[in-house]
Amino acid sequence: MSLDIHIVPILSDNYVYLARDSESGKVLCVDPGEAAPVLAKAEDLGWEIDTILITHHHGDHVAGVKTLKAATGATVIGPGGDSQEIPGLDQSVADGDTFAFGSETFRVMGVYGHTAGHVTFFAEGDKALFSGDALFSVGCGRFFEGTAADMWPGLLKLRELPDATRVYCGHEYTATNVAFAASIDGQNAELRRYAEIVAVLRSEGMPTIPANLGLEKKINPFLRADDPAFAEMHGFKGQEGVAFLAHIRAGKDSF
Ligand SMILES: [Zn+2]
Repeated sequence: MSLDIHIVPILSDNYVYLARDSESGKVLCVDPGEAAPVLAKAEDLGWEIDTILITHHHGDHVAGVKTLKAATGATVIGPGGDSQEIPGLDQSVADGDTFAFGSETFRVMGVYGHTAGHVTFFAEGDKALFSGDALFSVGCGRFFEGTAADMWPGLLKLRELPDATRVYCGHEYTATNVAFAASIDGQNAELRRYAEIVAVLRSEGMPTIPANLGLEKKINPFLRADDPAFAEMHGFKGQEGVAFLAHIRAGKDSF
C-alpha cells in the first residue's frame, strides 16, 4: 500500500495535497483553501477526487471545500469538534479514530492549540502525516485557540510516530522557521546542514515538503521542548515541556 502524493501550492504559501492510493485508485485532497488550482491539477493527473480531508476550520484550509465537493461529489472528513463548523462536513472524526481509504488506514491524531479541535491524519501504511497547521518543518502552529499546555500533548503524540514518517504540512514556512531555530539552537549541526538544503531548495523555488519526522525530532525546537540541556541553555532548567514550549512559541511570535 502506498500513496502517490502531489503538492498543489495555493494562495501565498499554502500547500494543498492530492494523494492517490495505488491499489484502489481512490484520490483524496487535503485542506483545499481554493478549488480551481486543485481541480486543474487533478485533471492534469487524470485523477477523480473521492475524499476531502480537513485538519481545521481556517479559511485558507477550507474555502475551496464547497466548490470542490459540488464538482466532484467527494466525501468531506474533518474534525466535528473544531471551534467553527467545517463547511460541507460529511464525516466527523476525532482523536484516536481510524478510517479506511482504499488499501490505506488513516489514524486521526488531535493536536490542539492552533485551533481548539485541530486534527492531523497519519497514513499508517505509507507513513505520511498530513499535519495541517499543527506541525511545520522546524515549526509548529501559532496558539490561536489554546496554550502550550494544549499543544504539548499533541506534539508528543506526533513525536512517537516512526522516524520514516513524511510530514506534509499546511504552509511553506520552513526558511523562516529554520532562521528562528538557528537563533536559539545555533550549535545544532543537523539544523545547520538542513538550513543549507532549505536555502538551495527555496532559491530554486522548490518546496521543502515533505519533511522527515526523524530529522524533525532532532532539529524542530517545538518537538524538543522537553530536552533538559536545550531548556537549561535558555534558563528553563527543570521547566522542560510546557513552560519551555510556551517560551519558544513566544520567541517565534516576535521573531
Ligand atoms: Zn490555520
